[in-house]
Amino acid sequence: EECRKLLTAEIKTFPDWPEKGVNFKDVQSILFNPELALITSHYLKELLPKQGANNFLFNKILCFDARGFLFGFDLAKASKTPMILARKPGKLPGEVITQSFQKEYGLDEIQVQAGLINPGDKVLIHDDLLATGGTAGAAAEIILKCGAEIAGFNFIMDLSFLPGRKVLQKYVDNDKIKAL
Ligand code: IMP
Repeated sequence: EECRKLLTAEIKTFPDWPEKGVNFKDVQSILFNPELALITSHYLKELLPKQGANNFLFNKILCFDARGFLFGFDLAKASKTPMILARKPGKLPGEVITQSFQKEYGLDEIQVQAGLINPGDKVLIHDDLLATGGTAGAAAEIILKCGAEIAGFNFIMDLSFLPGRKVLQKYVDNDKIKAL
């Protein structure tokens, strides 16, 4: 709650960017304020699914290009779990798994290197922000395609006036979709 208030107060919003009608929340505001960055990192770790003090209920964490990498790496280190990069097409070497998803205008794609997610894995998905849920939903589809389980979702911000949470409830119970 303290963290959410701080974030609401400190995060700069750019109206009508990158397109008209979008109010862009800029993570640069968090990174430029070391105290806020520490607080954000601390509370994101509190949201990690776990049982007891140190028994994390996931064994891999998937994070999005590029702002999802910033705090995602922190979460991977804190939970001592392997981190998986989900990237825009053409960025990852080797064999990749591709998932396309609907954006407001047209299709987009994300890719993950093949072989990183296997049956029996419980994968946590992290990104900076949940908007329509298209991006996180595409990651969920990749995890299911690999025969693995979705352990939950972890975001800094949830734009709750958009249907993202509803979309992700197709994959996990609401209490596994966490945001500050
Ligand atoms: P969604 O797929 O519509 O849920 O959008 C989420 C993705 O778009 C995430 O990867 C975000 O980084 C990015 N995104 C959408 N809106 C914003 C914003 O206001 N600030 C920062 N990133 C955003």
